[in-house]
Amino acid sequence: MTCRDVEHFLLAYLEDRLDWAKRIVFRMHLMMCDECVAYIAKYEAAVALGKAAFVDPAADATTEVPLDLVRAIMAARDATRP
Ligand SMILES: [Zn+2]
Repeated sequence: MTCRDVEHFLLAYLEDRLDWAKRIVFRMHLMMCDECVAYIAKYEAAVALGKAAFVDPAADATTEVPLDLVRAIMAARDATRP
């Protein structure tokens, strides 16, 4: 298994979808390749950050737009109309 193969099978490995033979070869590569171990650590950290961003789906971003801003946008729109 090459580093490119590790990248290709990474998601299946992390989701435990590799068959046992591929999983063993995958893990053997990781025992020999510090770069892939580091890559997977960064990948997992990025996934964790992505999940953390959606921890509270009820917490909407603010949807209140200042009325002055709405008026300014509409005025600019009206000014550019022919
Ligand atoms: Zn590698």
